[in-house]
Amino acid sequence: MTQSRMTGAGSPDLLLPDVASPVAAPFWSAARAHRFVLQRCAACGHVRWTPSPICPECLGEEAEWDGQPSGGTVWGAATYHRALYPAFERDVPYVVALVELDAGPKMIGRVVDAPVAEDLADTRVSVTYLDVTPEVTLVGFRLDR
Ligand SMILES: [Zn+2]
Repeated sequence: MTQSRMTGAGSPDLLLPDVASPVAAPFWSAARAHRFVLQRCAACGHVRWTPSPICPECLGEEAEWDGQPSGGTVWGAATYHRALYPAFERDVPYVVALVELDAGPKMIGRVVDAPVAEDLADTRVSVTYLDVTPEVTLVGFRLDR
């Protein structure tokens, strides 16, 4: 499994998101269940990432969490030959991409099965889930083949 590429999982120095954060908890809860949801503004319909209490388009304060298409297109990617954090040292080299989601927003994430140093611009990817602790599932990407 490519999930094993993220061998820093469980390491005490791995920086994990605050999955209980009130503004983002629905995202992390859905990720834990391997479902992809994003905030949609109840006033104007804008779909946003990252989670926020206020819509960046209309400043509306009401939002819903909707299931979203899990595909996207890579805008750009970087191969890390040195670990950003000590917990990632066993994963080097690894690839991180900026992905324009089919749902609209752009999201940064690990591409778990990308060949190192390959130009990934315009490559189609899909969301994948990285269960890193019993409580935390990260969202990354996998190449569409
Ligand atoms: Zn809005």
